[in-house]
Amino acid sequence: MNSTMTMEVRAAPARFIDEAGIAATLAATGDADPVRVREILARARALKGLEADDVAVLMNVTHPALMAELFETARWVKETIYGNRLVLFAPLYISNLCGNECTYCAFRVGNTELTRRALTQEEIAREARALIDQGHKRLLVVAGEAYPAEGFDYVLRSIETIYQTRGARGEIRRVNVNVAPLSVADFRRLKAVGIGTYQIFQETYHRQTYARVHRCGPKRDYDWRITAPDRAMEAGIDDLGVGILFGLYHWKFEMLALLQHIRHLERTFGVGPHTISVPRMEPAVGSPLAAQPPQPVSDADFQKLVAILRLAVPYTGIIMSTRENAETRRATFALGVSQISAGSRCDPGGYTGGDGRQLEQFQLGDHRALDEVVRDLASLGYTPSFCTACYRLGRTGADFMDLAKPGLIKLHCAPNALSTCMEYLLDHASPPTRREGEAFVVRELASMEPAVREIALKLVTAVREGKRDALV
Ligand code: SAM
Ligand code: SF4
Repeated sequence: MNSTMTMEVRAAPARFIDEAGIAATLAATGDADPVRVREILARARALKGLEADDVAVLMNVTHPALMAELFETARWVKETIYGNRLVLFAPLYISNLCGNECTYCAFRVGNTELTRRALTQEEIAREARALIDQGHKRLLVVAGEAYPAEGFDYVLRSIETIYQTRGARGEIRRVNVNVAPLSVADFRRLKAVGIGTYQIFQETYHRQTYARVHRCGPKRDYDWRITAPDRAMEAGIDDLGVGILFGLYHWKFEMLALLQHIRHLERTFGVGPHTISVPRMEPAVGSPLAAQPPQPVSDADFQKLVAILRLAVPYTGIIMSTRENAETRRATFALGVSQISAGSRCDPGGYTGGDGRQLEQFQLGDHRALDEVVRDLASLGYTPSFCTACYRLGRTGADFMDLAKPGLIKLHCAPNALSTCMEYLLDHASPPTRREGEAFVVRELASMEPAVREIALKLVTAVREGKRDALV
């Protein structure tokens, strides 16, 4: 079966996004009353999430003192659940072929300024090796929605190639995927090749805007896209990533719609998404809309929305990519981001030099190499983590949430983060990064609770003695 055949199956209209209800909530929410805001922030500390009405109130906070309290609460929630670790990954763009006309993306079918390229399996192995040699353990495979002659099998083979590739020191231990919506049958095949998370961004939940910016191709079908996570769940993929492309429609509407989507998944499957991505639209060659997003999100609103997401869905990871510049990334780490990409390229072949032609999807904001990002994180007091344990030890979906909710995940995550950080420092870091990192590991061990420290010390010592992939 290939993707052409899967397009014949269509989803019933999704009814779980209530646009009129969202508009009514936003209209009924006035200026943020400090008493109400503080009551909501106090409730958020119970780590049980927030309702739409609460989120609507927090989105209207503008007073500096209340903003500071909102950020402080987000910091507290992030610290309580995730500690100070940040998981690192890199995207691997395997192809920029695409049959859709998303007016904001350089890969859109009508863009004649872009050079098209689908990597061969040999080229994919070379890219994967380059990333392994940088120190990455976790990749996100990305492709446009049109595949070479073999159809969707191309994506499956590419994932197998990445898992089979060995570098001088190490291998890729987790492959996440961001590709177009699939049928249940194709999602089963995706699961069978051992993916970590399946990611799909609705871009905008606002139907009219969605129709306006997706001009042709299979992606025009809003319902087929929004129900992709349901089909993935049905196929047994319970690690899902959702997201919004901020800039297409008003961010306050998108936030409440995203919450409705999440609650739909929780109600239907007993577990919500594993991650939320928060891309803001970046300039893209040959796609003028991206240079002037219709509803741009300011830096201040961006930080606010990350903090609110942290409170509204405390156990869902938040991913920030290198679309954002180093300064914005630093400011939002503390507010709730749990995963970041580093050293990224968004052109197929970009890690092995590229060929100088125009192949990239959008302009990146953070051009720093992985080594520099790791050093920066360590100096700021964050643990750069290359951990891939949960998915490989079967801690996914509801099992992950059960473990995460009582805070027990800290007993696993903090030691695993430190041991994979130590692997990076020994195997890949430049001398200044290794110095900074080693000093950080010592400080970090000293600050841990005794029970966590004991586990972490055991793992870090094993890594120093030559063991790799030391995880609990
Ligand atoms: N082609 C598949 C799709 O559209 O679902 C998957 C890969 S697509 C390259 C990944 C994501 O890139 C899209 O979901 C969209 O949110 C994001 N994207 C597209 N154009 C962008 C731009 N100009 N700036 C930032 N992100 C963009
Ligand atoms: Fe193609 Fe995805 Fe870009 Fe749309 S966002 S043009 S589907 S690659």
